[in-house]
Amino acid sequence: MQIADQCVVSFHYTLTDDAGAVIDTSSGREPLAYLHGAGNIVPGLEEALVGRSAGDRFKVAVAPEQGYGLHHEGLVQQVPAAAFAGVDAIEVGMEFHAQGPQGPLAVTVTAVEGDTVTIDGNHPLAGKTLNFDIEVTEVRESTEEERMHGHVHGSGGVEH
Ligand code: ZN
Repeated sequence: MQIADQCVVSFHYTLTDDAGAVIDTSSGREPLAYLHGAGNIVPGLEEALVGRSAGDRFKVAVAPEQGYGLHHEGLVQQVPAAAFAGVDAIEVGMEFHAQGPQGPLAVTVTAVEGDTVTIDGNHPLAGKTLNFDIEVTEVRESTEEERMHGHVHGSGGVEH
C-alpha cells in the first residue's frame, strides 16, 4: 500500500541539524504514527512520504519554510525580569506562555543579562533545515473515527 491522503503511516525517524547533531529520534521507542494529509507532521516531510510504502528508507532535507517556519526577529523580545512575578530564578531554557498578538504563545528564555530577560516566541526549530532519516514501518487505511478526529488512534498515535 502506497502512502496517500487518509492513510495511517507509522515510521521511525532520526532528525539531525546541519552539523549532524541528533535533535530527536524515535530509535528505541515505538514508531510515530500519523494520519496522512491531515497536517499532523511538517509539510515538507509529509510531501516526501507520498508514494512510499512499508520498508522504504530514505533521507530528506526539509527547508525551514516547509518545516517549522522561518525565524521571526519580531518574536524575540527583551523584557524586564520584574515581568516574571512569582518566578524565583529565571534561567535560559525556561518556557512560559505569553499572550501574543495572535493568541497564546509559548516563549523560551534565551538570555538573561542582569534585569533584562530575552524571550523568543519562535518554535525552537524555526529557521532550521530539518534533516530526516526515515524508515516507513507500516501503512494502513484509517478508520472513520480517525478521519473525523484528524489523527491516529492506538499504537504510536493518540490514546483516548
Ligand atoms: Zn481521536
